Amino acid sequence: MSINVDELIGKVEKRLYIGGEWVEGSARGSLEVENPATGEVLATMASASSEDALKALDAADRVQREWGRTAPRERAEILRRGFELVAERAEEFATLMTLEMGKPLVEARGEVRYANEFLRWFSEETVRHYGRYSQVPEGTLRMITTHKPVGPSLLITPWNFPLAMATRKIGPAIAAGCTMIVKPAQLTPLTMHYFVQTMIEAGVPGGVLNLVTSKSASGISTPLLADRRLRKLSFTGSTAVGKQLLADAAPNVLRTSMELGGNAPLIVFEDADLDVAVDGAVDAKMRNIGEACTAANRILVQEPVAEEFGRRLAEKLGAMTVGNGLDGDTQVGPLIQSTAVDNVEELVNDAVSGGAEVLTGGARIEGAGHFYAPTVLVDVARDSRVAREEIFGPVAPVITFTDEEDAWRLANATEYGLASYVFSSDLSRLFRASDKLEFGLVGFNSGVISNAGAPFGGVKHSGLGREGGAEGIAEYTYTQYVGVRDPYAK
Ligand code: NAD
Repeated sequence: MSINVDELIGKVEKRLYIGGEWVEGSARGSLEVENPATGEVLATMASASSEDALKALDAADRVQREWGRTAPRERAEILRRGFELVAERAEEFATLMTLEMGKPLVEARGEVRYANEFLRWFSEETVRHYGRYSQVPEGTLRMITTHKPVGPSLLITPWNFPLAMATRKIGPAIAAGCTMIVKPAQLTPLTMHYFVQTMIEAGVPGGVLNLVTSKSASGISTPLLADRRLRKLSFTGSTAVGKQLLADAAPNVLRTSMELGGNAPLIVFEDADLDVAVDGAVDAKMRNIGEACTAANRILVQEPVAEEFGRRLAEKLGAMTVGNGLDGDTQVGPLIQSTAVDNVEELVNDAVSGGAEVLTGGARIEGAGHFYAPTVLVDVARDSRVAREEIFGPVAPVITFTDEEDAWRLANATEYGLASYVFSSDLSRLFRASDKLEFGLVGFNSGVISNAGAPFGGVKHSGLGREGGAEGIAEYTYTQYVGVRDPYAK
């Protein structure tokens, strides 16, 4: 299907959505959205002030009680209709994401499918969120536990997965019966605005879902986190901002879910099927132009196969087509902004000055847009910046290890703990990997493991809580225990 880009952008509502109405933002100035492949301005969005944010909380608080008491089936049906509408509009959502974020269209289509699965999954979870009924051990009380919506929630999303990060939070919040205030990243608000339009059509009542895009992120979060009516913060973004928001949330003792940064190791043992391992590394490294929290950041390869692995990885990355994501054959799009290219350039230069060798790439691509060539570095020092910091770009540093213990030690030597990947033909190693690796996610012989039905989230400085799976809805509920005097108690 070919999409008329101007018509599509024209269809997207640029205003804020508060209390069931589209309204202008009252912050001074507006927010321009750029295409990272060309530098062109795509749209100008309304910008919310602190007062707008508080109005959104007024609206969310006003309808929380009524919304929390709706029949689970009613909320499930809204999510199901949302799922069907997103599927109908898949090409529009994919195009919007490619335009504002840069990812190749083929990947944007993949994100739409992945994102939409959260709506389907949580539509199913809504009606199966069971409590339990039992006796206390002494037999004196009957124990009933139920799950109740935690209350008005602030949902803050990043720019790298504009639709998936929206559905992964809004889906379970609707399922649990929470009202919400959503703040998308300044760099990619178009997808979220179109998604909110879609969910309104799917039947979300006024006040339940409020949208406050803003030039000033802290202008939204600071007053909301301090307001006692807010009960929950779900944040996906960088660890630095996450720590600040945790501190801001503490005085109000808010429930928090934090999906933060990562520094994923991808470990290739000498007994791995190298075809599978190289393909897995390409997936785990290059998905989303390397701008993923789950991106393989350190490729750890056992010494006997390191040279061959590096060469084969470099052949694959060197052959990838870089360009505007809207062009049909593009496999690698632009980075989100020029400072991202500067950062990647610095990390590569630092590694090279520390003795690394560039097998392919190793330089920015001059011209319009923010492009960096797919890069493989070998002989990378274990303590170089590229091995310690989130790269967020198409750079694969290969580091060698000696034996299994060395691999686990190297993998865990980071403050992060989100994704990890292991490639080996020895299945018993899977259990040792699971024992030893301090990560929320472990991929075994696969470079792509995110799934709506699986719990996603990190440990250590990668965050708190889980999204997706049976765990995802629990983040938006609290458990209430009712103790009833046992009729047979003496
Ligand atoms: P970011 O932290 O800069 O921004 C994330 C969101 O927070 C945006 O909406 C932004 O406007 C908002 N924000 C920024 N400063 C704020 C402040 N002071 N107060 C309140 N809100 C603020 O992150 P980003 O650059 O948009 O996203 C990339 C980061 O997100 C990477 O570190 C990546 O690993 C992480 N990420 C994590 C996951 C995960 O599930 N763990 C998923 C995707 C991205």
